[in-house]
Formats: sequence, structure tokens, C-alpha cells
Amino acid sequence: MLNRSSFLPAWDTPEGIRRSSDLFVAAYGSRPAGVWAAPGRVNLIGEHLDYNGGFSLPFALPHRTFVALAPRADEQVRLVSDLAPDAVWSGTLDDLGPGRASGWVAYAGGPAWVLRDEGVPVRGFDAAVASCVPLGAGLSSSAALETAVALALDEVFNQGALGADDAGRARLAAACVRAENEVAGAATGGMDQAVALRSTLGHALLIDSSDASVTQVPLDLEAADLTILVIDTRAPHALADGQYASRRATCERAAARLGVRTLCQVEDPEAALGRLEDRLEIARARHVFTEQGRVRRVVEAVSAGRLREIGPDLDASHASLAGDYEVSCPELDVAVEAARRAGALGARMTGGGFGGSAIALVERAKASAVRDAVAASFAAHGFAAPEFLVASASAPGGRVG
Ligand code: ADP
Ligand code: MG
Repeated sequence: MLNRSSFLPAWDTPEGIRRSSDLFVAAYGSRPAGVWAAPGRVNLIGEHLDYNGGFSLPFALPHRTFVALAPRADEQVRLVSDLAPDAVWSGTLDDLGPGRASGWVAYAGGPAWVLRDEGVPVRGFDAAVASCVPLGAGLSSSAALETAVALALDEVFNQGALGADDAGRARLAAACVRAENEVAGAATGGMDQAVALRSTLGHALLIDSSDASVTQVPLDLEAADLTILVIDTRAPHALADGQYASRRATCERAAARLGVRTLCQVEDPEAALGRLEDRLEIARARHVFTEQGRVRRVVEAVSAGRLREIGPDLDASHASLAGDYEVSCPELDVAVEAARRAGALGARMTGGGFGGSAIALVERAKASAVRDAVAASFAAHGFAAPEFLVASASAPGGRVG
């Protein structure tokens, strides 16, 4: 049967404020000092390059995580999420450090511990989280949560000194990366936190992870009569963490063998591939090298407003991630193939892989038809029904209420 479910809506600001504030009041019996929000993201191109010292080109989704928060005068912390509104976590700032916090608390509370560790005068606080970013779908609900909390803490304890400009936001992003790496124990790169904090409305964010510098790239899909359809495959991705770490380790080994710090520093990719002997190192490095070329071409085309031209590079990126990098899965492959068959100009997996989401560049008028075709193909394969979002380049995190 055809899945006719419509697109997953993004909450507008009043709805996010209401949901997070209501949860705060229900959990703690008082009003929050304010509400902060930060977006999920999709990556247009440049996948698995962040930890290889290369470029990525993500943009912020209209789907955001909202955090209602109030400072406390002591060191106590209370956290609650609308995923489990009756389960308030309660502890101290010290309990939010590496090896102590686990599960969702590591993402929600880890930034507090790291910021304090870095000298930001963070004290205890109460926070309530409500989100319309799909969880674990490769759309970066983790960074949306971390960065919304970090912005809130910066404002209530630090006069908003870091959230006020891009340099400060880069520091907040780095603190959230530390929280994800050291507290949550997920070996992710810096793309997700950067786009949640440093993008601007109507732009994709070109991130150079060799020096964490960013460039705003205008991305006006509407003007080109296009949209990015996001397909959340809802495939279980239990393998993701270990596989991510192993891809990262293989790339680091290959870089060491080539005498560079990261693979993206290699100047002559052809020669470098000739010098590697390990089959896996060659394949992983080849993805990194070819993906860098695709990023360059896509940035050029998008900057010039020639959005329709990027389809083939999206397709090639998927082939490289599936073949050389081996981070795709049957659901992602079916999603991109069905989308292309239904008229998408290009499609690829986005995010870490092994489940999660795919993106398809489609004519606005065809979005529903492509959605229905992908849903039908999933049903025919016996996969769980996917979820669909419509993406446009949205605003970065900040205070909303
Ligand atoms: P992704 O970032 O792609 O959504 P991750 O595995 O990196 O997937 O992060 C998902 C984790 O982040 C969840 O398992 C949970 O621990 C935490 N998380 C994200 N959003 C929320 C939320 N709204 N409430 C509670 N925990 C959340
Ligand atoms: Mg994540």
C-alpha cells in the first residue's frame, strides 16, 4: 500500500516555545528564564570529510530543538525531555563529565561540563527539551540539543559573550564537539555543531575543517523552483558508532602512511593512491579524494545559482559512499534509486550512513510524487515506512523566547 503520510512539519517558534516551556513548568513548577533553539541539518555534499580535514556543505533545517532553561544558584542540574516527560534527571555539574554521564544526559548536559572546564562560569540549571528533529535519523538531533543548551548557558551565565559573534560561536561549537566526543563518547567530527551555530538563513555553510573556517554560500532553492526532499529511512543503525570510528581510524592510518596529518592535505591524489597498499585504505582514501572534487564543483554551481547542475555530483557521491566508503545500506540505496526513478535530479545518502537519511534534489512540483514513489518502493522491499521532510536553508541557533 502506498504511504500517503505528508511531510514531517517543522514547529514554528511559538509552538517550540510553548512545548518546551509547558514541559519546564510541569517538571519544575516554575517558569524558565528563556527558550533557546538550534536546528538539525542535512549535508548537501562533502560526506565523511570533516575528520579528514576537508570541506563539507551542510545547511540548517527548519526543524529545531527547543530548550527552556533557568539558571540555579547552586551546582544542581535537572534535565527533562519531551521524549520521557516523567523522567527528570537530577545530579550535579560534576556528574555531567566524561565517564559519568551517559545516554541522552551526555548530550544535554555534556556541554555544561565542558564549558565550565574551559573557564566559562557555568553553574547549576534546570532545562526542559522539546524537539521536532527526528532522533537518530542522521539529521543531527544530537548537535541541535548540545548547541541549544550551550547557547542558553552562555547567555544566562556568561552574558551571551560567546553567542554574540562568529568567533564565539566557533568556540561554543568546539565545546559541543568535545561534549559529544568526550562525554557522549561519539567520535564525530565538527560539521554538525558548526552548522547549528554558524550558518545564516538562506545559505549553506561551507566548512573547512582543516581550520574550522566557514563561508556562507547562498542557497535559494525556491528561486530555482527546487526543493531538497529528505528521506528518513528509519533503518536501525546499530552498527553506526563502531563503523564510524573504524572509518576514521582507517583514514588516519592512510594519512600517516602518506606522511600527512589528514587525507585532505594530500596534494597529488593519484600518486598517493599508488603508494597505498592496503585495499581498504585505498578505497577509503579514494572516496575522500573524489568527494573533495565534488564539493568544489557543487560549491561553484550553487554559488552561481546553477542548482540544477549538481544532480550528477550528488549521485556520484552516493556511489562513492556506497562503494568505496561502504557506509550505505539497502534502505539508503533503495531510497536514492527510487527517488531518481521518480524524477529527482540527484540523490545521495547524507550524514554518517548505515541508516539515517537520504536527500533528493527535486522540482518542487514533483516532491509529492517522489515521496510516494520512495514510500511505495520501501513497501515493496518490506522495509518500515520512511518519513519525509522538506528542507530549506534555515536559521542558526539562538534565543527565541
Ligand atoms: P542524530 O544526531 O543523527 O539524530 P545521534 O545518535 O548522533 O543521532 O544522536 C541521537 C541522540 O541524541 C539520542 O539517542 C539522544 O541521546 C540524544 N537526543 C537528541 N535529541 C534529543 C531530545 N530531543 N531529547 C532527548 N535526547 C535527545
Ligand atoms: Mg548526531
